[in-house]
Amino acid sequence: MTIPTPTLNRNPSKATTLLIAVLFSGWLSPVIAEEMTSHGSHVHGEAQLTFVLDGNEAELALVTAAGNIIGFEHAPMTVEEQQQQKTQLEMLQSGRWFVADTDANCTMAGQEVRAEPDEHDHGDLFANIQLLCQAPLKLQNLQFNLFELAPGLSTIKVQFLIDGEAGVQELNANQSTLKLRD
Ligand SMILES: [Zn+2]
Repeated sequence: MTIPTPTLNRNPSKATTLLIAVLFSGWLSPVIAEEMTSHGSHVHGEAQLTFVLDGNEAELALVTAAGNIIGFEHAPMTVEEQQQQKTQLEMLQSGRWFVADTDANCTMAGQEVRAEPDEHDHGDLFANIQLLCQAPLKLQNLQFNLFELAPGLSTIKVQFLIDGEAGVQELNANQSTLKLRD
């Protein structure tokens, strides 16, 4: 079985590690696991996000075709492209592409964002954000502004794991709120 992701390459993130644990433990149905595998490829217009909440620590791991966010997928070739890439990477680093419920009292505890340009014009972008939440049980929704900030993006396929409970959800500009609990 192929593990779909993104952030596997060097230092598996907490989200990735937990997600793998879930996949292998069979908590998710085979149908979902199969679907997730087929979403492992680079698709224009689409991003994949894993969200894990474990105690009061949370992590978001986003992977997307670079063009969805930056507008191109090669290494920047002009001053304008450099600037465009810088602006969008800073936007991802800032964490302002999503909003957690205020009551959960989450603050950003760390981030890692990188672009991996590709000579064949199919580079990827990776963004990992760690959060610390003082009232994690009050975290019910994550709202994504990313569709406004990244006009090339039309869909975010989300896999989430909250205190051991897994779910999947698909977001778009009209449905940009991830519901974590009922
Ligand atoms: Zn591409």
